Amino acid sequence: MNVDVAVPLPLPGLLTYSVPEGLEALAGNGVRVRVRVGKRRLIGVVVAEDVRAPEGVKTRPIDAVLDVDPILTRDLLALARQTADYYLAPIGEVVRSMVPSDLPHWGDQKVWLSESALMLPPGSSEETAIIEHLTSRGRVKMTDLVRDLCLPDAPAVIASLRESGRIQVRQGRRDGGRFQTAVELAKGDRSDLLERCGRSKQGREVVEFLAELSRPATVSEVCESIGCGPSVVRRLASLGVLLRFTQIAKLPLARHRLSSGPSEPISLRLDQAAAADALLEALMIDEYKTFLLAGITGSGKTEVYLRAVDRVFEQGGSAIILVPEIALVPALAGATRSRYGSATALLHSALSKSERHQEWERIRSGEARVVVGPRSAVFAPVENLKLIIVDEEQDPSYKQDHVPRYHGRDLAILRAHCCGSIAVLVSATPSLETRHNGKIGKFEALSLTRRVGKAELPEGVLVDLRSEAPPSRPGEVHFTDPLKELIASTLDAGDQAILLRNRRGYSPVLLCRACGHDFRCDDCGLPRTYHLKDKRLCCHYCGAVESAPGVCTECNEDALEAIGAGTERVEERFQELFPGVPVGVLDRDTSRRGLATAVLETFGRGDSRVLIGTQMVSKGHHFPGVALTAVLLADTYLGFPDFRAVEKTYNLLTQLAGRAGRGDRPGKVVIQTYHPEHYAIQAALAHDDSRFVAEEMRFRRMFHYPPFTRMVQLLLRDSDRSRAAKSMGMISRALESHPLAKGVRISGPAPAPFERLRGRWRFQLLLRHPSGNRLRSLLTSALPKSISGDLVVDVDPYELL
Ligand code: ADP
Ligand code: ZN
Repeated sequence: MNVDVAVPLPLPGLLTYSVPEGLEALAGNGVRVRVRVGKRRLIGVVVAEDVRAPEGVKTRPIDAVLDVDPILTRDLLALARQTADYYLAPIGEVVRSMVPSDLPHWGDQKVWLSESALMLPPGSSEETAIIEHLTSRGRVKMTDLVRDLCLPDAPAVIASLRESGRIQVRQGRRDGGRFQTAVELAKGDRSDLLERCGRSKQGREVVEFLAELSRPATVSEVCESIGCGPSVVRRLASLGVLLRFTQIAKLPLARHRLSSGPSEPISLRLDQAAAADALLEALMIDEYKTFLLAGITGSGKTEVYLRAVDRVFEQGGSAIILVPEIALVPALAGATRSRYGSATALLHSALSKSERHQEWERIRSGEARVVVGPRSAVFAPVENLKLIIVDEEQDPSYKQDHVPRYHGRDLAILRAHCCGSIAVLVSATPSLETRHNGKIGKFEALSLTRRVGKAELPEGVLVDLRSEAPPSRPGEVHFTDPLKELIASTLDAGDQAILLRNRRGYSPVLLCRACGHDFRCDDCGLPRTYHLKDKRLCCHYCGAVESAPGVCTECNEDALEAIGAGTERVEERFQELFPGVPVGVLDRDTSRRGLATAVLETFGRGDSRVLIGTQMVSKGHHFPGVALTAVLLADTYLGFPDFRAVEKTYNLLTQLAGRAGRGDRPGKVVIQTYHPEHYAIQAALAHDDSRFVAEEMRFRRMFHYPPFTRMVQLLLRDSDRSRAAKSMGMISRALESHPLAKGVRISGPAPAPFERLRGRWRFQLLLRHPSGNRLRSLLTSALPKSISGDLVVDVDPYELL
């Protein structure tokens, strides 16, 4: 027998191997195998069984089988093939990104007879064979057992023996630190809770402690502080004084009670109920369908889709919830935890490798049926998948920027299609592609147009930077008079504010006034960003870092000046203007240090009054205390040579506005700009979504951009500029002269907007045609096989820089 194996190499196709006798029962679809490719030993995944060897090729045997149960289910294998075809990516690389590397070799687990094995009545003849084998051999490796016995459906027989308790299998190592039990005070006033403690002095101390702390605490934290044993905490929980819950040790303690849980059912508004009903109805029909759940910020979209997840969960199915970045949505993690308990798997970026493996194993074994995670969670190996949610579907982080360059939302739809399940795309500002698909009926559109409770969308305040006094120092932060006044009145009223500046660091450029030197990155040719606190100059394109000098390294003059402002400088200026007001800063530097959730929590508790940060501050947070949000300069993207620049600007402003006025009082959003007439800015100010969509669609149609065309970007990177230009020229001629190129718009070759990054020159070619399949066939048939330099093929590109 031969099998096709996907190996993690950039090869266009699959490799065929023969299966030695004895391994036949094991080497099925979806299991990992060890194979040789040339001189290398690699781990691949079987993606086709019983294949014929290519003519005239002598197939090599596989060396070993590493799993007993498939690591990729049938629907995931189908998804892998479709992903490879769609993104013109090597299937081995697709499979590699679906399976976490270094996952333990489950087939190496040891199997042995349990003590009760021989006392139980005999089962089928296969079962008896296994029991006899183990009686004579003792402990054996799972794969050896299957090989030695040559049983056709060994995995199933082993599973049933294991279930009936006749054999034991050593579990993968469980890492005890993963989950922790935490507690918080139950609802009700303190005296009432104290009364319920009865005469237990320690019990009362626990209540006082938690009331003082005003957040949940882990059981060990409580025991240490009070000096009591865990039984005291258990007793208080059984008396209803404390609520107990389990959480992942690495995640900061989210407020359990604030998240909507079964303990406090929310009653849906009529429009929410109608949307939820549409989802439930589709779940009943049990066929593929995609919904677009569009609703203004703060309209309660999460609660709507969680109702659908509830239904799937009750009925024993599985659901996947994709989010751009879990660290920024602790509330969602809290809600899924309280609703589905340990049946939730959280694929959080802060998990260690072993924790991630464990989550994967809990999902694969069926223990976890609701998976929350970033784009790669679309590959979660759940069985019986009924529902995939893509929250904030417009978020750019769904697009992977290395091979395979897939889009999490599009794969979610593809996977739902493979499994006959429901996909729900959720957003306040859906991407233009998704809106278009809603309009032409490919997706069913559901919409929520009111905010929860008494909240209204915030009033928009425009500040025209052209007429404001120009900054007195170069790069002085734009705290204009109207903005300062609004911040002051917000703080006076006891409310909170969010300020957005979409640049991290102190200033984008450090310039020598004497000689004009601006400390460009050697590899990228662009100025490095100045980080004052760390005293470093950092290239934001390649990450290269060097320490910041005190005087110019070129001319030795003491004339260095920071030009422009990033979040660090905004914070500094803010503190000059509003001394003593506690501020939190949220950007990639904060999250890299693992502080993002802590900053958000502090702000959520009201312990910091102002949150300053990059676009991260605009993402899905729900802070009812925020009355004012402001963008210091709305034009950052507008001038970028990227056809999505306007969409990105509009989304950012709308999301930012969405953070204001979520409580009972109306909020304000301030937009400072040099382009006050621009339709993206006008529409965001007036919350006029249809105006933005109409204008933007007109632009996209006129200039042949998605959603009116499909696009593939070819990018050629080479350390030598003329070689890069030559290769791209050759590619472009090969494509243009092919018959399939008829009707395809080919733009370029041209230097990419960032012509040199990480030491490599970059040339690009853009292909456009209404049919994506047409572009794919052109590329498969006409792309030269051997090109010097490194060629990137990006289907549905996101960044054209
Ligand atoms: P969105 O995602 O649309 O911006 P969220 O789903 O974050 O809004 O909802 C905002 C808040 O309103 C959440 O705390 C949620 O629990 C609450 N909420 C949602 N629906 C209702 C409702 N019908 N009644 C009361 N509160 C609700
Ligand atoms: Zn660089």
